[in-house]
Amino acid sequence: MSTYRYTLEAGSRKFICPQCGKKRFVRYIDTVTNDYLPEKYGRCDREHNCRYHLNPYKDGYAKMIWKQEQGFLKPLQRKAPVFDFETLKQTLQNYEKNTFIQNLLTNVPFPFDVKDVTKVIELYLIGTNSTGGATFPYIDIKGNVRGLQNHENTCLFGEHLLSKYPNNPVALVEDPKTAVYGTLYFGFPEPPENFIWVAGSFSIDKLKVLQGRNVCVFECKKQEYEKILKARFTFSELAKTPLADYLIKYDWRLFRNEPPSQ
Ligand SMILES: [Zn+2]
Repeated sequence: MSTYRYTLEAGSRKFICPQCGKKRFVRYIDTVTNDYLPEKYGRCDREHNCRYHLNPYKDGYAKMIWKQEQGFLKPLQRKAPVFDFETLKQTLQNYEKNTFIQNLLTNVPFPFDVKDVTKVIELYLIGTNSTGGATFPYIDIKGNVRGLQNHENTCLFGEHLLSKYPNNPVALVEDPKTAVYGTLYFGFPEPPENFIWVAGSFSIDKLKVLQGRNVCVFECKKQEYEKILKARFTFSELAKTPLADYLIKYDWRLFRNEPPSQ
């Protein structure tokens, strides 16, 4: 494990280099906050043609943040992509127009019970947008709403459940819809042996919240799985089936130990 707070981001994500303009630039991340450092900190991987490298330890940035945190300096304005809760609340309605929710109740081969669909809506705070699409809010482990749809700097979908259910194993998938199906098929996380279903792109900074948990990864590409292994998370199992497509063919009651529907 690295002992440095600021490190070049692991993985293959590249940004535009501020010097040569090519998309070959690896940025520094703050391993405490999981945010990127300002755009100028990073290293261009065009080692012979560009050689741009601005290290936060070399130009005083690290020291400045340290002083700021010790209370010597007034805080700089930090970008905090936190969404206000009122805006989220406004999406929590119009479920009769919500195509995704209506599909769960009527159009799938084995429609779910209204009480379970209501419960999954409450668990993940799924909402409805102005065109009848479902919104899947990204709420972080501290309960901050980070956005209503996925974008680059959000947390995992379902991350807020990790603090609510500290002992459950975690099922990790790519798409929030799959997390919803997983919950409906395998059951809600009240019993501590049930999965908490979370979704998101498999980037190391997002996955840090899962450290120390028992995690089952679904739908993970091979190179991403290798990236995860390198970060030494404890992952117990790997399945590669597109999960929602597989589950939807079966009666969910079979997975929940309830008698099948007639
Ligand atoms: Zn460059």
